[in-house]
Amino acid sequence: MARPRLTDDQRALLAWGRLHLRDLPWRDTRDPWHVLVAEVMLQQTQADRVVPRWTEFCGRWPTPASFAAAPVADVLAAWQGMGYPRRALNLHRAAAQVVERHGGQLPADLDALLALPGVGPYTARAVLAFAFEADAAVVDTNVGRVLARRAGERLTPSGAQRAADEWLPNGRAWVWNQTVLDLGATVCRPVPDCERCPVAEGCAWRGGSAHPGNGEDPAAGSAGVSRRQSKFDGSLRQARGAVMAALADGPVRVATLQVPGGYDVAPVVASLESDGLVHTTGRGRSQTLQLGPSPV
Ligand code: SF4
Repeated sequence: MARPRLTDDQRALLAWGRLHLRDLPWRDTRDPWHVLVAEVMLQQTQADRVVPRWTEFCGRWPTPASFAAAPVADVLAAWQGMGYPRRALNLHRAAAQVVERHGGQLPADLDALLALPGVGPYTARAVLAFAFEADAAVVDTNVGRVLARRAGERLTPSGAQRAADEWLPNGRAWVWNQTVLDLGATVCRPVPDCERCPVAEGCAWRGGSAHPGNGEDPAAGSAGVSRRQSKFDGSLRQARGAVMAALADGPVRVATLQVPGGYDVAPVVASLESDGLVHTTGRGRSQTLQLGPSPV
């Protein structure tokens, strides 16, 4: 079937993408598992920090079956440094589900992907578009920012998805989504560089330096656009990360653990334990902590 004709701004954006798309290793694969691993890592970790971990994970666990068979403690140890380790736990559960329900192959179906642990609307559509090249439009924080500014108004989740779906040129989902993502990541940033924007003409807001009087940024509070993260130093997140890092090389006695930020060790350990990220064995001063959920 012939592809539909492109609109002027679709053509301009794709032309910009041909010159500016970032060179990222997961853009060279269509392996659905490798795409899913990249997208889960990218949910809350910057691309440059994801590159070496993604390469390591895909080399060590090249299939859902190999990943599902790995001990959770090994997966969590390999995740160290990327933060938000519940993602690793969910990815492990998702791999097990892919093996049990889908014969070890990621399904090319939106509802089946959404049923996997840790897979939300963005990640499911990213797998469809980037692995299967299906006509699915992704909305993450970068795309959400572009869509809201282009519309000139704050969007609801369904409004943002509808705007993304309507803008998508069918038959070109892979390159289109990568290009909109990179536009948001490099040009339509929180402080946008509208002078360099290939779709400025069709943008209702155009909030760059050339248009300082255009009012409040519609991306603020719009669907998909993340708010500024709270401070890491002194946070519970930092304390939890310190405990997880201390366990990377093996079990540690709880009495020897130290956490930053003035937190007591016990509630930090309890919060990790309730997330299934660590478990304790023994009692009193010989109580030991290790990675992974309790085996019983
Ligand atoms: S013109 Fe400016 S605000 Fe509009 S999409 Fe481009 S960079 Fe973003």
